[in-house]
Amino acid sequence: MDRVRPPRRALESLSPYDAKHLDAEVMLASNENPLNLPGELLDRLAEAVSEIPYNRYPDPMATRLREEIAEANGLEPANVLVGNGGDELIFDLVLAWGGPGRVVLDFPPTFAMYAIDAAATESMLVQIPRRADFSIDDDALFARLAEGDVDLIIIANPNNPTGTLVPETTLIDVLNSTDALVVVDEAYFEFSRHTMRPHMSRHANLAILRTFSKAFSLAALRAGYLLAHEDVIRELTKVRQPYSVNRFTQAAARLVFRERPVFESVISQLLRNRDVLVHGLSEIPGVEVFPSEANFVLFRVEHASSVWRDLLKEHSVLVRDFSRTPGLEDCLRVSVGTEDEVRRFLAAMESIMSRRRAAAHFGVAAPSARDEGEERA
Ligand SMILES: *Cc1c(COP(=O)(O)O)cnc(C)c1O
Repeated sequence: MDRVRPPRRALESLSPYDAKHLDAEVMLASNENPLNLPGELLDRLAEAVSEIPYNRYPDPMATRLREEIAEANGLEPANVLVGNGGDELIFDLVLAWGGPGRVVLDFPPTFAMYAIDAAATESMLVQIPRRADFSIDDDALFARLAEGDVDLIIIANPNNPTGTLVPETTLIDVLNSTDALVVVDEAYFEFSRHTMRPHMSRHANLAILRTFSKAFSLAALRAGYLLAHEDVIRELTKVRQPYSVNRFTQAAARLVFRERPVFESVISQLLRNRDVLVHGLSEIPGVEVFPSEANFVLFRVEHASSVWRDLLKEHSVLVRDFSRTPGLEDCLRVSVGTEDEVRRFLAAMESIMSRRRAAAHFGVAAPSARDEGEERA
């Protein structure tokens, strides 16, 4: 056949997720831990990996990892589901609680996967835009919940890419106002140190998502987990891919989880680096910085796309460009790197911005040295 019939109609309005997988000397675009696993863990991992029976399928439920996560959180293994990254669990949640005719609620600007998964599953996505300061619009939220038809609510806390934390009282009010499944995405829990875990016993409709990709230096291996009522976990096991978490990932995630106190000092250092980053950005004329409870910082700068390009092309610093996202006009997001990376980023920003000021002063049309305009045209 010289042609293929099209897939589902829902895919027509979708475009492939562009993870912007570019290379740079200073990688500050994906909120990863800037440091690889500590050498001692790499050695132990090499040992564990040499004992894997590669010919055998992995344990579908990652039982031992699941038990350790449950114990650390004061829960039963039946309350834990491990996934191939938090992303897979988000997809499972939308597949099970969303779908045609079902209502999924999110709060843009937020993590893009919620909307992508809702579209892919033909769920009805209702978006409640955040206010100008990126807080949740409670009036709109509770008015929508009062209609009684919401099936799934996903709230990133702190929110990516804005860094905003939702007041705990708001989340409790949400849990009390609806029987929808409320997913609190705590991908940045290790940085914010805020969790809804204490509220699980009172709310069967609360699910908490965590990941190994951010604080725990394991983005490469894809591991995340969900804490929820056992009935929720049971439903999700109906739709999940049984062998999605491979043996390699299970071994590494177990090792890292058991040794997680090792990461405390890196996390504290990253929080100090975040303060340096926020302070440094706020000192640069023309830059507006938003407060953050995570390991990244959102900032607004005129001609953000060309600033993004200058950072990459002239300084080999990669950040994330959100300037085309509604509500994030002229916004870039920079992840918190090592002290040296933060220094390099700030020096690059100062250089770019001072050149722009000079160009503006001398009445030069283009604020950038070259190729400004093509993208905004
Ligand atoms: C990074 C991130 C995740 C999950 O990442 P995985 O690498 O798939 O575990 C989930 N939610 C938010 C808000 C994130 O930023």
